Amino acid sequence: MNEGVVVGVDIGGTKVLAGVVDDAGRVVRTARRTTPGRRVVTSRVEDALVEAVLDAAGSAPLAGVGVAAAGFVDSAGDRVMFAPHLPWQGEPLKDLLEDRLGCPVGLDNDANCAARAEARYGAARGAASALMVTMGTGIGGSVLLEGRVVRGANGMAGEFGHMQVVPDGQPCECGRRGCWEQYSSGNALVRNARALMVEQPSVLADMTDGNPDRVTGPMVTSAAEEGDLVARRSFASVGDWLGVGVANLVAALDPEVVVIGGGVSAAGDRLLEPARDALRRTLVGAAHRRVPDLLAAELGPQAGMIGGALLVG
Ligand SMILES: [Zn+2]
Repeated sequence: MNEGVVVGVDIGGTKVLAGVVDDAGRVVRTARRTTPGRRVVTSRVEDALVEAVLDAAGSAPLAGVGVAAAGFVDSAGDRVMFAPHLPWQGEPLKDLLEDRLGCPVGLDNDANCAARAEARYGAARGAASALMVTMGTGIGGSVLLEGRVVRGANGMAGEFGHMQVVPDGQPCECGRRGCWEQYSSGNALVRNARALMVEQPSVLADMTDGNPDRVTGPMVTSAAEEGDLVARRSFASVGDWLGVGVANLVAALDPEVVVIGGGVSAAGDRLLEPARDALRRTLVGAAHRRVPDLLAAELGPQAGMIGGALLVG
């Protein structure tokens, strides 16, 4: 890889974001396309991906392209097996793109790519073992042990959100009950706030004309910043459950650091302080071990792109 540029691509259900990433992990030029959707022929999604890559690269030759895909990628890194917001099912994306782009292509899911980026350049840099927990509407994640991303037999390791934490608890989109992401996620934050605002006064009532169904995640965040008790209690609960789930992961895997990414992590210590308390309170042997640092991710929405580039850089 002595000439040409390396491009990382993050493809999700709404957009394709491609960026030229330099040797220091900086994104120096980006291009984006709208994702064509879930009900189109697969080649249209690949067209959008190829266009975004070529647009980002400009006139520079391609040394390699790494794709971070929002979906399940097989353990070999060849195929997207399934993606909830994309039409791919078993799509041999690596080979298809290598044919079309004429350069080496790497492929992994977006959470693993984000973890690679945080481990090299972000909050987990220097750590040989780290867990990344991505909190959006649900919970995703990645396991990095002894310098390697653990992908699992099916490429499905790191789906932390569907670990059961409450027997017969809240129903989950996966069809089961009591999954962790039902208690600690953007959706859980909103559900907490909706339930609490009917019990006690809250600015959320003013923001929604008293209709709990109209509460959104960003509303809860801004209400918490204003000091609203309902919003703050909602964050405290989500943070507490975050720490409880992380303690289970730490008991199993003993990482040096746990990095919390995704949209909800923008709340920072409002989320992380109750999580750290719960981690110390519930982790096995906490008094006799170094409890891992629980840190906010540093690279934000570019992490997938940067980690994609690391697949081939
Ligand atoms: Zn579930």
